[in-house]
Amino acid sequence: MVNQKYYGYGTAPSIIRELFAYGLEQAKVLGKDKVYDYSLGNPSIPAPAKVNETIKKLVEEESSILLHGYSMAPGFEGAREAIAANLRERFTTNAQANQIFMTCGCAPALVSVACALTVKPEDNFVVIAPYFPEYNVFFTAGGGKVKVVAADVPDFQINLEALEATVDENSVAVVINSPNNPSGVVYTKETLEKIGAFLKQKEAEYGHPIYIVADEPYRELVYGDAKVTFIPEVYDNTIVCYSWSKSLSLPGERIGYVYVPEKCEDGKALYAAIAGAAREIGSVCPPTLIQRVVQECVGCAPDLVAYDENRNDLYNSLTAMGYECAKPDGAFYLFMKAPNGDDMAFSEAAKLEENILIVPGTGFGCPGYLRLAYCVSNQMIWNSMPGFKRLIKKYGK
Ligand code: PLP
Repeated sequence: MVNQKYYGYGTAPSIIRELFAYGLEQAKVLGKDKVYDYSLGNPSIPAPAKVNETIKKLVEEESSILLHGYSMAPGFEGAREAIAANLRERFTTNAQANQIFMTCGCAPALVSVACALTVKPEDNFVVIAPYFPEYNVFFTAGGGKVKVVAADVPDFQINLEALEATVDENSVAVVINSPNNPSGVVYTKETLEKIGAFLKQKEAEYGHPIYIVADEPYRELVYGDAKVTFIPEVYDNTIVCYSWSKSLSLPGERIGYVYVPEKCEDGKALYAAIAGAAREIGSVCPPTLIQRVVQECVGCAPDLVAYDENRNDLYNSLTAMGYECAKPDGAFYLFMKAPNGDDMAFSEAAKLEENILIVPGTGFGCPGYLRLAYCVSNQMIWNSMPGFKRLIKKYGK
């Protein structure tokens, strides 16, 4: 007999992984250029040159066995100091090394925070649709619940009335992911300020903190004039979860952090509980070599030209054909309306008829829409357009 909850997680089908696997099989039969895979959020631009140069330099110059040894549980002092200094430089925040807890990517950062904040089974985390499906796993890890705020279609900003109706006396945190997976939308500063003011009022009414968990792996992926608000600047009780998975194209290296700003209520206890939760899930001492790399590359910015070109080409071509979508300002996702109103059926038709792999919005809490991850080659986008044209002709209303 095994734990049924974990058995369920381990055997649950994942549409994204199934689409990806289907694409690999089809590519063997038809050739790679005949499959148009928009399923995975795997960065397609290389890590900045400094990343590989630093890896080489460290491996060649550091003779100490400690380069591959354990670090302290919260991470190397030097890495945490560099991250704190970078945050102070870029934002209005007084970050210090002892408020940074290094993690193996953003996922364990979020799970540790969820576990640290959950005190009783009624505790809930408010998430805003469309949202990253793994939130259902991450934010229930401590035994609490997830409550969903319905998506605000078609622009995918946050519907404040719906949020206000969802937060209750058992809400311990609101999770904000901006730029957003799957919509690519960046929430405006005004919206975030309004949420902050509302939560402050509810904290006073309920007599306990209601944190914002800022899930920020896409913080640096933003285009045009859009600005990503650093949420601790507008709301004191904000906990930041970050990773370099997308910003430096390092998802396989598993490196990120939690930042608990000094203005956070119970900040020291919270930091300690996050450290304890990370210990329970076995996510301590992230890869030492990569901690040393981010220490040196913390100021590197991604070169977004290729993503921006893809974003414009995809958005302009699809909307010209009659597809409806909110223009994404960040991340590398575009969220479009299913022309036939049924995201599951449209995804299946696109797959079987055109070898176009796009993810139904149902899993993101937003049926009727589909996610396209445009971290792909620009050529693939152009090659897929005749298929999109045939699909809207056949299924459009
Ligand atoms: N949060 C969101 C919104 C994501 O899209 C992802 C990954 O795709 C994560 C968290 C997890 O990031 P990481 O790969 O750094 O664990």
